[in-house]
Amino acid sequence: MPNVNAYATPAATAPLAPLTIDRRTPGAHDVQIEILYCGVCHSDIHQARNEWGNSIYPMVPGHEIVGRVTAVGDHVKSFKVGELAGIGCIVDSCRECEQCLDGEEQFCQNGMVGTYNGVGKDGKPTYGGYSTQIVVDEKYTLHVSEKLDIKGVAPLLCAGITTYSPLRYWNVTKGQKVAIVGLGGLGHMGVKLAAAFGAEVTVLSTSDSKEADAKRLGATHFVNSKNEEKMAGLAGSFDFILNTVSAPNSYDRLLGLLKTNGTMVLVGAPPEPSQVMGFSLIMRRRSLAGSLIGGIKETQEMLDFCAEHNITSDVEVIPMDKINEAYERMMKGDVKYRFVIDMQSLK
Ligand code: NAP
Ligand code: ZN
Ligand code: ZN
Repeated sequence: MPNVNAYATPAATAPLAPLTIDRRTPGAHDVQIEILYCGVCHSDIHQARNEWGNSIYPMVPGHEIVGRVTAVGDHVKSFKVGELAGIGCIVDSCRECEQCLDGEEQFCQNGMVGTYNGVGKDGKPTYGGYSTQIVVDEKYTLHVSEKLDIKGVAPLLCAGITTYSPLRYWNVTKGQKVAIVGLGGLGHMGVKLAAAFGAEVTVLSTSDSKEADAKRLGATHFVNSKNEEKMAGLAGSFDFILNTVSAPNSYDRLLGLLKTNGTMVLVGAPPEPSQVMGFSLIMRRRSLAGSLIGGIKETQEMLDFCAEHNITSDVEVIPMDKINEAYERMMKGDVKYRFVIDMQSLK
């Protein structure tokens, strides 16, 4: 069993530190990948710190993985050694339930196996992309185009699909007015994708310093969400709101910005419960919904769409040993707009 360098959280209150982990020898259907870049998602912080209450330690976070195939099992059909490959948030699922058969493995009725903080079918904990190598069944491995800068592709594996999937599901198209709440990793991908789908995008952000970036990324308007007067002026104006905020925020206040029949989709997952006033929904037949990453088929569709439209994430590349600092900066909303770890720094 190959030993692999990794970075792990030993406990909820401890910083991340080096750890050597075992990876399985590739089985007949497995692809072995040398990890080149791994994005840093806010979910990594929530889980490293046990904010969702389901953490398994030691934890090797990371589910925005891009690398090169270094070995394939005998039955692997669609990957060859030397090709680029990507791994997102899912490394296995039951493959039999209605959702798996529909290509929505994220909703597997028997529980999808997360890339990290999960338990594989072999009963062992899964370890994520803050490591130099990973082995995954080809069914859960994505094809990555050589056309794009792979540093900027890594975040597409979570931030990209998590924003692409709801924009597609709720048919966001040309002529619609869309608000993206929070301009971080998910938010900046939401802006790029909603703009690519033809929507008129407004960014609602707590950081005035992000206005120029928001417009460069594809937004037409930028509003500081702390400005009550400006927020009041937006009442009833959006068809769709994508809420990417990682901390508690008032859903009622945002629901009031939707048109009649409008929908706000939560992708941001603060650990604390929220209150919603029934009237925020009732008075204009508004909907409040949620969305979880996306299935493997749709993740491939999103990667292909991004390759075709030249869409990547705006990244700050960091060495592995700067990860604890990166977490602290993300907690302050200070990331432009995704940290990506250069895995050469862990070799
Ligand atoms: P991120 O890069 O840290 O961005 C979050 C943004 O939210 C910040 O940049 C900031 O934007 C805004 N924000 C933070 N604290 C705030 C506060 N107290 N009030 C208002 N705005 C605040 O995080 P991310 O990686 O994009 O992840 C965002 C959330 O989505 C996390 O909760 C993560 O776990 C979740 N997530 C969910 C899924 C899913 O499948 N549903 C997938 C991935 C991640 P401004 O500076 O612009 O205000
Ligand atoms: Zn994520
Ligand atoms: Zn299933």
